[in-house]
Amino acid sequence: MNEQPYDLIIIGGACAGLAAGTYAARRALRTLIITKDTGGQIATTPSVENYPGIDFITGPQLAQDMQAQAVKWGCEVRYEEATLLQKRAEQDFLITTNKQAYSGRSLLLAYGKTPRSLDVKGEEEYAGRGVSYCVTCDAPLYKGRTTVVVGGGSSAMEGALILSKICAKVYLVHRRDAFRGEAVLLEQIHTTPNIELVLSSVSQEVVGNGEYATGLVVQNVVDQSLRTLEIDGIFVEIGFIVNSALIKDLVNLDRLNQVITNSLQETSTPGIFAAGDITDTPYKQAVISASEGAKAALTAYSYLNNGMPAGVDWTSHPS
Ligand code: NAP
Repeated sequence: MNEQPYDLIIIGGACAGLAAGTYAARRALRTLIITKDTGGQIATTPSVENYPGIDFITGPQLAQDMQAQAVKWGCEVRYEEATLLQKRAEQDFLITTNKQAYSGRSLLLAYGKTPRSLDVKGEEEYAGRGVSYCVTCDAPLYKGRTTVVVGGGSSAMEGALILSKICAKVYLVHRRDAFRGEAVLLEQIHTTPNIELVLSSVSQEVVGNGEYATGLVVQNVVDQSLRTLEIDGIFVEIGFIVNSALIKDLVNLDRLNQVITNSLQETSTPGIFAAGDITDTPYKQAVISASEGAKAALTAYSYLNNGMPAGVDWTSHPS
């Protein structure tokens, strides 16, 4: 156990956590990031073309650069897995990992969420090489090509519509014949000529040429027939999983197990902040996670300094 508590302990070393690390360390907060890896989901993205000011960067490089920046300012990083988070008293948190325990005066939850995978043969092999979990991030790679979206919720339906504007053809594969997503999206899908619905069909295998995915094998659950969709890209949009076991007794969660935050990234528990994909903020994007991380660090600074604002407090200025 560390003798002097950290001012801020951040769980998660992706865009939100790393940006928070930089902002907290630059405020001279003694800051520790506990993370399983560098970058989380962004590290699985081959190209990032929408991070402001950066024309093109690979996901792993963006994550490494963000981490190097946080470390440069004095933030510590430990590759461990947090297994128990406890609030013992005001400004007294105990974080237990698979290796040791740490005490901190405040806590930032920034460990994101995990896209649900299809769990079929070939999916892992071609992840990042034709198999993607983010339409917004990777759609532009498939201009003029053929893609398939898997899922029946709003994410899959919205994803298919986005891709239909860029791709020559889009298949939308769903395991049932009724969609869970919004009716208005379904209406738009029905009037989009280059979207083909493949319903009541379960994904069986991702096939490829060794370098990239080239097909998705699906099985019709009604007549058991198999069909191979020849595609250039597969978008898996079947929801996300939040590791809520770690936090369900600590902070309020919404019906999707996302952490409910206010505009200052405060949770329902004083001293615990949350940022990035783990929160109930819509639009799960790297730049949004980073900005929430920055905000959370500044709010933590204010919390640790008796409410002293970390910047100009415009709320106290007359308009
Ligand atoms: P979701 O609503 O949970 O839908 C997940 C879809 O994936 C379901 O259709 C489900 O099928 C399917 N699925 C789950 N596991 C599967 C598996 N192993 N194999 C094949 N299919 C599987 O997730 P989401 O679409 O990401 O949406 C999450 C939340 O964000 C929702 O509340 C949604 O309304 C919201 N959202 C809103 C917007 C918008 O308002 N524009 C856009 C995106 C998302 P079943 O239907 O058979 O269960």
